[in-house]
Amino acid sequence: MTSDTQESGTDPVGLKSLSPSRASDFKRCPQLFKFSAIDRIPTPPNVYQARGTTAHLALERLFELPAAGRTPERLSDLFREAWVELKPGEFADLFTDVADERAWGIESLAILNNYFAMEDPTQFEPLSRELDMTQAVGDMTIRGILDRMEERPEGLVITDYKSGKAPSERFAMSAFFALKIYALLIRIREGRTPVALRLMYLTGPTVLEIPIDDGQLDAMEHQLEALWGAINKAIATDHFPPRTGVLCDWCSYQDICPAFASDEGGAV
Ligand code: SF4
Repeated sequence: MTSDTQESGTDPVGLKSLSPSRASDFKRCPQLFKFSAIDRIPTPPNVYQARGTTAHLALERLFELPAAGRTPERLSDLFREAWVELKPGEFADLFTDVADERAWGIESLAILNNYFAMEDPTQFEPLSRELDMTQAVGDMTIRGILDRMEERPEGLVITDYKSGKAPSERFAMSAFFALKIYALLIRIREGRTPVALRLMYLTGPTVLEIPIDDGQLDAMEHQLEALWGAINKAIATDHFPPRTGVLCDWCSYQDICPAFASDEGGAV
């Protein structure tokens, strides 16, 4: 789960910055982008976000340990410790029933343990973890946090952890959208083009990996510039059309979306 360092915001002259996840929101549905990045309507945390956030912190800290200490038992301990830290803040009201929280914890630990089926963390040292990727790209500023980057003999590889399961083949390539943006930022910042992008899905588990090259990153840069223009035009004209699709069923804003409003409400 790559993440935003802060929400995109607007000032009187337009958008200040853009995160890969907000850029993805706009591509998926401009109305969704308005709810999340412009209106900044918070969505209630759910058990999947809690699992993802806690698992990320545990995996980040796993690599603070000496290689020999990176064991399944220690990762489970790190998850428990991370949950104790995170729960009182964002997730304080998530569980009202101790049995529900316990069941969530047991399921989460089983999913987290799948990590060891995908790679052996005793065999390498990441170059960086939770890397702040605030970076100018043309007249844009892109903000986000990259989960992990490592050096292989063939070059740089950037990795994103996902606590859910891998998408179907139909959506697999679009799942790399954020990582392609991060690869572009790495190229700008480090002067090196990563050789591969890697998504690690703990539920499954599944590793998806694709090669990346300068041609693809040039295309991503052009796509980002076009997206940035479209977003600023949408802000200037206050035009954020809803784009309905299969993913609406998972949209946190469906209850207030004009595309799903009743006729009585006078909406679409
Ligand atoms: S419910 Fe669908 S159309 Fe409405 S904001 Fe969400 S993704 Fe867009």
